Order: sequence, then C-alpha cells, then structure tokens
Amino acid sequence: MKGVAILGSTGSIGTTALRVLARHADRFRVVALTAHGNADLLAVQEAATQAPFIGLVANGSAHSVPERWRRGSECLTEAATLADADIILNAVVGAAGLDPTLAALNAGKRVALANKETLVVAGELVRQAAVSGGGEIVPVDSEHSAILQCIGSRSGAGVRRLVLTASGGPFRDWSRERIEQATRDDALRHPTWSMGRKITVDSATLVNKALEVIEAPHLFGVPYDQIDIVVHPQSIVHSFVEFVDGSVLAQVGLPSMELPVLYALAHPERINESSAAPFDPVAASPLTFESVRLDDFPALRLGLAAARHGEAAPAVFNAANEAAVALFLDARIRFVEIAAAIESALDVLGDLPGTEKNALLVADRAARQLVNERFGC
Ligand code: NAD
Ligand code: MG
Repeated sequence: MKGVAILGSTGSIGTTALRVLARHADRFRVVALTAHGNADLLAVQEAATQAPFIGLVANGSAHSVPERWRRGSECLTEAATLADADIILNAVVGAAGLDPTLAALNAGKRVALANKETLVVAGELVRQAAVSGGGEIVPVDSEHSAILQCIGSRSGAGVRRLVLTASGGPFRDWSRERIEQATRDDALRHPTWSMGRKITVDSATLVNKALEVIEAPHLFGVPYDQIDIVVHPQSIVHSFVEFVDGSVLAQVGLPSMELPVLYALAHPERINESSAAPFDPVAASPLTFESVRLDDFPALRLGLAAARHGEAAPAVFNAANEAAVALFLDARIRFVEIAAAIESALDVLGDLPGTEKNALLVADRAARQLVNERFGC
C-alpha cells in the first residue's frame, strides 16, 4: 500500500488522478490533498478519500474551512514531506510547484511530476535534490511518460534523438494574419486535450512544447541538440525515441492523462487497468505528421533559445509567460502579445545568472514585474 499526496487535487490532473486512484484503492491510499482556492471541491474530495491531511493555499476568509485543514502556501511542502506519503503527485500549475518538489526529493520521495514549471525554472537544482535526498522524479506529462516508457531503465545510453510530438494546438493551420486576431475563446479551444486554462493557452502559443523540451535533458540526460519536435494533430503517438542503431520506438494511445498518471505511480511496474479502452489502430487512423511552424509561433522559438542559453533564461521565459498568460486570460492583452512580453523579458533579463536558487527567484520575480509593468496597464 503506497501513500499518495496530491498537490493541486482540484485541477485537471488532480481530478484525473483521483479517478485513477479510486480504481486502484487496493494499492494506493490518498494521504494528502491540497488546492489553491476551491474549498468546496476540496471538501468533497476530502469526504470521498478520507485523506488525513488537507491543505488550502489561499488564506482569504471567503470560505469557512474546517479547523483541521492547513492554510497558506506552507501546506504544499508539509504535504510533500509527510511520513506516510511515498509518492507526491505534483499537479500544481506554475512555479509555485518548485518548493514542494525540492522538499519531496530532499525527503527521499518519488515525485510524480505533472508540474512542468518545476524543471524549467530550476532543473539543475531539482536534479541535485534528487541525488542528495535519494528521491526520484517520474514524469506525468504524456510526452515524457512516452519517452520513459520507450527508454525504460536504459536512461540516456544508446539514445540518438528524442522526438517530442505536439498537437499543434488550435492555431496549427491558421495563417499568421488570422492568429493575430485570435481571441481568448479561440485559444481555449484545444483540439485534442481537455486541460487547465494556463496549459491550454500554452498549447496554443506552443510555449508548452518549449517547456517540455527544456525539461527533457533534466529527465533523460539527452542534450538539446538531440531533441526535435514534430506536429502530430491526432495526439495518438505521444513521442518517439530514436536509438543509435537507427531503431525508433514510440508510445501510442488515445489522448487521456489517466495512463501517464497511473504509469507515474506504478513505474516501472504496469498495473492492470480494466477500464482502459482497447486501442484500435484502424479507428485511430490516419496518423499524420508535419513540421512545426517556428516562424509563426515565436514563443516556441524564444523558449528553445532560452533552453540553449541556460542559466536563468528558462526561468525568465517561464515567469514572463506565466505573467503574460494571466494578463491574456484577464482579457488585458492580445494573444500575440504573449510572445512579445516573453521577448521583452528575455531581452532585458535573459543573461541573468541562474545557478543558485535565490538568483533564479530574483530572475523569476523581475520577469513577472517587467511583464506586468510593460504590458499590464
Ligand atoms: P489546473 O489549473 O487545472 O489545476 C491546477 C491545480 O493547482 C489546482 O488544484 C489549483 O488549485 C492548484 N494551484 C493553482 N495555483 C496554485 C498555487 N499558486 N499554489 C498551490 N496550488 C495552486 O492545471 P492542470 O491542467 O491540472 O495542470 C497542472 C500542471 O500539470 C501544470 O504544470 C501543467 O502544465 C501540467 N500538465 C497538465 C496536463 C493536463 O492534461 N492538464 C498535461 C501535462 C502537464
Ligand atoms: Mg505534454
């Protein structure tokens, strides 16, 4: 029986995980749930799981919450280090997920990592925490889960190239002129995945794919010049691994996060999942692949450049994007201004140092401030 703490239990990945865990109650026990502000759903989840630790990050007085609940952002690291939590599913959105990841790894836990911002902001520090604390990261993101399933325990050895698939998002076949007119509703209409609002916008700008490329070397030890992206509109092939002998493996399945969540909990085992629909290649066909339109999705190009630059550039890229997406979701900037905001933050702050955690936090804060000052009024 493994104890599982779910950080961000009220979100898209968190609720998916609770569905998966409910079907596998013979193996996993939910020992902690945390959410940002949705106290009503958190109370329903507490009743359903009987989780002994409940944390609500928002400190507002809008809801009267039970005395036994923990309040404030510290509840994330508390949940991440509970003695009876073997696996921490980090499904928080944004850089707020970094501290609980570090705390869990330092405490020797398995982190089932959906929170991609963790590795983007501080990939090197996270790796060091895993080594010194004895914890491990198992990715939940479908592309990295696919790569892990293809590579198995072989790590980076024998790998020539990773090819991450991208759905292309809602604007995959829009002209550049049409993308310039894109509205918030257009950006929130993802063709293949149902996800939280921030990652849905990231999928429209293709920032999401940049974040995934930035993460990959930290997870698999494969350098950036051996990572490619291919657009695959059906989201059936979740990524490819090409080996040095020319063999290529891919992991294939219907677009649902239930499998990657279950795999991150069970890895390297596989658990019988009777509710998984059988894969029908005929029904899934045709499978098509296209080159990515880097010139028409400038935020992706900026993210890839930040990855190669290293130091604090990925943290600046991430923070500028988080601030810009919040402004976009608030209807205060246009879609194309997200890339413009990221570019102006990287122009000013892209050369900041980034080896220490404090330096990364300074870069993160400066990027958010710059975007809010230049674009938020
Ligand atoms: P979401 O917005 O649906 O849910 C986010 C969760 O985090 C909620 O429970 C919310 O209460 C909590 N949260 C938000 N801000 C917080 C803060 N500052 N501190 C603590 N908790 C906070 O997001 P999601 O779609 O579930 O995505 C979660 C993470 O997983 C993101 O990093 C995303 O990129 C990644 N991811 C999501 C999917 C997907 O299918 N949704 C796929 C791959 C990766
Ligand atoms: Mg993904």
